Amino acid sequence: MTQEPRRGPGGEPQDDCLFCRIVAGHIPATLVRESDTTVAFRDINPQAPTHILVIPKVHYPDAASLAAAEPAVAADVLREAGEVADEEKLESYRIVFNTGSGAGQTVFHAHAHLLGGRGLQWPPG
Ligand code: IMP
Repeated sequence: MTQEPRRGPGGEPQDDCLFCRIVAGHIPATLVRESDTTVAFRDINPQAPTHILVIPKVHYPDAASLAAAEPAVAADVLREAGEVADEEKLESYRIVFNTGSGAGQTVFHAHAHLLGGRGLQWPPG
């Protein structure tokens, strides 16, 4: 049984959410791009030469619950990830949405990992 909530409370900022606090500017992050609905910043523990997180400004615990509630914002996250990949001049890259602690999700605010700048193995670990 997972302990994390599976449903967003409606997109409102959560005081105890790390990424909501980054969106609010209360925790510093290395921003690379921002739109009306999204923020992109460098991962603090990069797993590739380019490792950038693209997050919605609204709070939902994972990508699927974001897409169910606010599909246009979920599309914004993907589009912004592609724009960042272009800006980083990545010829190939991977976009990952870890979902659930068993898949490695540690921050329960929807986010896309954009990984590139090295060869990426398949299947992933
Ligand atoms: P998850 O494991 O898929 O939930 O991804 C969360 C990511 O957030 C991890 O790759 C962490 O390295 C990253 N992370 C955690 N705290 C910070 C931070 O303060 N700034 C930037 N990235 C962070």
